[in-house]
Amino acid sequence: MTPPPPAYEILAVRYGHLERTSTHNFIGGDDHAGPMPLDYFVWLVRGHGRLLLVDTGFDADAARRRGRQMTRPVAEGLKAAGVAAEAIEDIVVTHMHFDHAGNIPLFPRARFHVQDAEMTYCTGRAMTHPHLRTAFEGRDVAGMVQSLYEGRVVFHAGDEELLPGISLHRLAGHTPGLQAVRVNTARGAVVLASDAAHFWANLTRGVPFPILVDLAQYLESHQRLRQLAPSIDHIIPGHDPAVLARFPAEPGTIDMARLDLPPRMERTS
Ligand SMILES: [Zn+2]
Repeated sequence: MTPPPPAYEILAVRYGHLERTSTHNFIGGDDHAGPMPLDYFVWLVRGHGRLLLVDTGFDADAARRRGRQMTRPVAEGLKAAGVAAEAIEDIVVTHMHFDHAGNIPLFPRARFHVQDAEMTYCTGRAMTHPHLRTAFEGRDVAGMVQSLYEGRVVFHAGDEELLPGISLHRLAGHTPGLQAVRVNTARGAVVLASDAAHFWANLTRGVPFPILVDLAQYLESHQRLRQLAPSIDHIIPGHDPAVLARFPAEPGTIDMARLDLPPRMERTS
């Protein structure tokens, strides 16, 4: 008999915030527009002697230039969670957008796990179009290429097991090489969807967030998310402030939530 996969702890660590209205969060706008802010997260997966960071966030400079609020710098949030950024050895970068792939110099020892399709996209012809490159930072992409030349990039293609109980799943649409991370926990498999769904409402309404490279693939990826997770409460959207509201806070903090524990309140969207 094969042993069951190990169950990990998952911590959502919020580092940023943006006030905006719901009109900006759905393609085609929103008939009932109201405040619908975004939170920005990195995620820590740990247990069984393993530690994995999912995404690296943006830094103060990008926050300033792009008008985002930095609620707590990524390195400080990680430190509050008991993790030294410079010691982290494995990082999954879900996609190369500025709010997921910045801060590369904070992680000198890390191997970065990316999808082939993402690096091909953000270093290729598509980036000649200003509209397509606007959510990328050239220096983040250059930092990843530099890491590649230091032997610190691991490429993945499609669905792959990363560690026992942790797998990567390419979910194209928002970008060509976006990958979700599926993690076994005590409450079952939890899927860190990243920007395959910014909000639970993108999923439940079936309406994409407006930054998109392929609508059909995006909607297919929603279907795949539902296949990968035992319930919608096991799918963690990339930017939904309800994540912090719904899941138990890490003791002593207000900006970290435990996603391996059951939600303490129902979804409202
Ligand atoms: Zn994002």
